[in-house]
Amino acid sequence: TPFGHFRLDPDIRPLSYELKVIPRLEESIFYGTFGIVLRSTKSISAITLHSVQLSLSKRDLKLHWQPNEMIELEITDLVWDTQEQTMTISFDGSLAGDLSNETLILSGNYTGILTNDGYGFYQDSFQRAMDGTVSKMAVTQLEPHFARRMFPAFDEPSFKAQFQISVAAPPEWLVQGNVAIRASGQRVHEFPGLVWTEFQTTEVMAPYTVALSVSELDCQNCSNDIQDTPIVRVCARHEQLSLGRGEYACSIPDKALIRLVEEFAIDPLLEKIDLIAPPSKGGAMENWGLNTFGENLLLIDPLSSSDKDRRLALQVVSHELTHQWFGNLITLGFWDEVWLNEGFTSYYSYVGMDAIEPESDHLHFIQTNEVHGAMEYDAWSNGHALKTEITRIDQYEALFDSLSYQKGAAIVRMMIHWISAPTFQRAIHQFLSDTLFGASSSMALTVLDEGGSRSFVMRCAKLTFQVNDLSDNDILLFNPNQTGYYRVNYELENWNKIQLVLMDRPDQISAPTRVQLLNDAFSLAHFEHLDFEVPLHLARYIATDHHHLPWSVLTKELQKVGSYLKLTEVYEKFLQFVSELTRSKYLEIGLADNQEDFTHRFLRKDIIQLSSLCNLEELRIDLEPLMSRWMASLTPDEVDSNPFNQNSRYEIYCALVGQDSVDFWGFLYQRYITAIGNPERESGDILAALGCSNSEAQLEWFLDQLLIANNSITQRFDAYKVLHSVGNNPKGREIVWTWMDLNWNFLKEGTLGPVDLLVSVAAQALGYSSFQLSDQLILDQFLLDHGSDILIASGSIRKAKLQIQSNALWHQTHYDQFEAFFS
Ligand SMILES: [Zn+2]
Repeated sequence: TPFGHFRLDPDIRPLSYELKVIPRLEESIFYGTFGIVLRSTKSISAITLHSVQLSLSKRDLKLHWQPNEMIELEITDLVWDTQEQTMTISFDGSLAGDLSNETLILSGNYTGILTNDGYGFYQDSFQRAMDGTVSKMAVTQLEPHFARRMFPAFDEPSFKAQFQISVAAPPEWLVQGNVAIRASGQRVHEFPGLVWTEFQTTEVMAPYTVALSVSELDCQNCSNDIQDTPIVRVCARHEQLSLGRGEYACSIPDKALIRLVEEFAIDPLLEKIDLIAPPSKGGAMENWGLNTFGENLLLIDPLSSSDKDRRLALQVVSHELTHQWFGNLITLGFWDEVWLNEGFTSYYSYVGMDAIEPESDHLHFIQTNEVHGAMEYDAWSNGHALKTEITRIDQYEALFDSLSYQKGAAIVRMMIHWISAPTFQRAIHQFLSDTLFGASSSMALTVLDEGGSRSFVMRCAKLTFQVNDLSDNDILLFNPNQTGYYRVNYELENWNKIQLVLMDRPDQISAPTRVQLLNDAFSLAHFEHLDFEVPLHLARYIATDHHHLPWSVLTKELQKVGSYLKLTEVYEKFLQFVSELTRSKYLEIGLADNQEDFTHRFLRKDIIQLSSLCNLEELRIDLEPLMSRWMASLTPDEVDSNPFNQNSRYEIYCALVGQDSVDFWGFLYQRYITAIGNPERESGDILAALGCSNSEAQLEWFLDQLLIANNSITQRFDAYKVLHSVGNNPKGREIVWTWMDLNWNFLKEGTLGPVDLLVSVAAQALGYSSFQLSDQLILDQFLLDHGSDILIASGSIRKAKLQIQSNALWHQTHYDQFEAFFS
């Protein structure tokens, strides 16, 4: 573009768009007409905007100027820049002077592609429940830079405008857009059998939040008796809704939106909101008034879902609703600051979750989910600043990463604790009010301090500390509750004193601080700032801790250490250590969920995970009769027949399979075979657990099932899950690669899925679980033999080799510490 690189000229801006689209699903294309009303604040003789994969030529375009009456300007040239995905329209004679009160109207016709890749205006499909025939649908995913695939667009987030959209579809179809329907039913001249649906004009919004869906999905109206809240629907395939799987999502928007309105004191300006699940979608998207979700993120089975499924759905739905403020009403200035959309939204989605389930303590999970996740990512990855310069289109998506979401949320949490919640709340209200319908960069994010002057809040972290007693047993604690985004290390003497206080009087230290101490100590040990003796010693107090979050942190850390120590000589002693920590708590809370709240169930899940990890005898004794009962059941596939706690099934299956129970292995495999139609998670848990076997013959047999045509695994494209589960088991590591080598010609045919994906999955599993440099040779040999047949998987193999190297290095530097501790 004339602006040196890939950004649009900020002086030429759209005010409004009028779009009409006719999707032709049978031909995988759509026809479009568009009109854009523009304004320029300077003299121009050309207009540059985005367009890609759209067919149009100079003669399809018209440009009008409206100083007083409409004057048509002659278009002299149309130049495409395929790299920057722009088109530049030059016209006869330049318009001079200040044009800011005069409008230009660019209009035209074009043809676009209904892609299969899930971006732009794309197509999806599903089988109709009644007769098994295929129903296609067309739906949008325009973030971050795919509006230009749907219409010629000023496709940057700050180029906001109003949209007036019409779409053609069969009259009985479900047609959805950002806002309510204004009129429908008018016949489409060119295509008998289709009628127009015309939506109302939208508010001013960013082009990436435009949305459209034309489908045969069903909708469920979520009852709404509350005044001034939007009309909510959940839309998905008929058979999903008929099983009651839309109910849970239906219950979320009203309460979450009311709470967020209370928090921000800003009207979300939503008349209606549809939450829809296009069948093949991955992830979720916050389009204004039409949020889209993967089925697993929106639809919750009332009978078989676990707490984890429900919490994930709650979090994602709440997240997309929160975007109405951070993203839709005010928008990031450009994609170099994704965190402004995602960080704030990630933080406040917990406030929405809290409104739905106040008893579940969701707000405390920000520390373990977001802060710990961000710090871990920051430590292991090369990282980047929250604001990161980008210069090419292919860099946009990489910024939707853990740093923008989790570190963004952690920074918001830090700011709130620093300047106090009420002040921050006032500041956010001010920020939102000032920027409403606009776009912002983080430099605009200022806070009114006590004296009424504005100051930047992004400068530094506040250092806080706590001193307990004033005696010889004094301990010093920095960063209590881990509100600051930093880690704290102490001299050994202070760590020891902290350990004594934890053993004697754990309640003297708050739960979030106990969480922090464990998290900091393990992390510091991983990075060689501390001997592992310190965190392991610290963990000894845990039996007396009744709070779910310290247990959750410890479970994660011990699992990680366990995976590193597997196959080493200290592993048995490590498991013994884990048993000692866990036994009394397991005996206290047992295996079955009673009528308890979420936090108790959450704690039980972790205790069962640890008990399974160390193969706790008391757990085994409890599981065996349940296993026998299930195996003896005449209807083992009925939901009620499975006796195991829904929140811990993978761990329980894995523990039982690991005990070399041939019968149970076969029984479980049979459950997978007959589980067609059950939620995907259940069959995923089973496949993952089947790989926990200690029998090499069993693992080989498991892999060989992939060679059988029309097997359930191949029908469901689950082969990569099998490779992952066997490859993650130290016993299966080599088996997987030998098997792939032997069956390479078959794999290359692609029946099991893209061969690159299969190899990448196996490489990932090996990289994750191997600590032996000799395993790199397996990968080298594989590249030598089959490298010419694969493309992206070569990258995964190289990455796995690096990972093995760093795992081996970890062993070298830390193993002595474990040996010393456990002896
Ligand atoms: Zn988001």
